[in-house]
Amino acid sequence: MAFKDAKTFDTRCVVEVLRTRRVTPNMVRVTVGGEQLSALEHRGFDHWFRLFLPRDGVTNFDLPARMDLRGYIGYLRMPKDTRPPMRNYTVREFRPDAQELDIDFVTHGDAGPASRFALSARAGDRLALVDQGCGWDPVPADWTLLVADETGLPAVLGILRDMPRTAIGRAFIEVPHADDAQPVDAPAGMDVTWVARNTGDRPGARVVEAVQSAALPPGAPYAYLVGEQSIPTSVRRWLVGRGVPKSNITFTGYWRLGKH
Ligand SMILES: Cc1cc2nc3c(=O)[nH]c(=O)nc-3n(C[C@H](O)[C@H](O)[C@H](O)COP(=O)(O)OP(=O)(O)OC[C@H]3O[C@@H](n4cnc5c(N)ncnc54)[C@H](O)[C@@H]3O)c2cc1C
Repeated sequence: MAFKDAKTFDTRCVVEVLRTRRVTPNMVRVTVGGEQLSALEHRGFDHWFRLFLPRDGVTNFDLPARMDLRGYIGYLRMPKDTRPPMRNYTVREFRPDAQELDIDFVTHGDAGPASRFALSARAGDRLALVDQGCGWDPVPADWTLLVADETGLPAVLGILRDMPRTAIGRAFIEVPHADDAQPVDAPAGMDVTWVARNTGDRPGARVVEAVQSAALPPGAPYAYLVGEQSIPTSVRRWLVGRGVPKSNITFTGYWRLGKH
């Protein structure tokens, strides 16, 4: 299944950048805070949200609190010159007591407003987020398979952090450079493989190849596949071809090469 309908959540928080830090060569961590975060539920795993970014000049953060069709139409009807660009991001860490939340942004240049923002964010910049819940939705299975690129790294590391300590399985994470790997808090039975891209590789190609050539545990997995569109598409097709029921697979394209 694709990520469940997340349009029923209606928590919107306007937050402020507290600090930024380059965590690895291609990832910037932006820590945001503010008292409106007290309304946000701490869901863990791959908890994600719609992120509304500041724009040059005045930004109107008076947004619909629920991103269902009505809310989205309301958003599109906002005057273009003050409407904040919207993108999707994952809660990397949430510290509700401190009213702080970390977001890990992959930096891929300044072609996109989110990456551009992460590269130049300053303390005091305002953002808004609307809760979208979790995509992680496991079914009973013999083992767990997690596959992602660097955009799904926050989701996969959050799942590894929060899944039962008795879990067994494999996680494969493709990163632009070996130095983009991050410390992992995972159950002992979850084997984590980092796959570094070589210059010129199509994003996703190496991790798909790594999964398909790995010695995987026997039995049917619950699989969670995210990242550049070709990752969930290729791995899902391959798993289904090997007899894994479609209902055992959660998949979503996080971005698409060459497309907005
Ligand atoms: C549920 C969900 C959770 C996500 N969580 C995260 C997260 O925590 N961290 C994160 O970094 N991303 C995450 N993403 C992916 C992120 O939303 C996209 O990468 C988004 O397109 C980035 O927006 P942008 O404004 O930087 O670029 P856009 O304006 O969307 O795109 C501009 C150009 O950049 C390309 N592009 C987009 N993303 C990338 C990339 N990562 N690498 C190279 N080229 C790219 C596009 O193909 C396009 O040509 C998530 C996506 C989803 C659906």
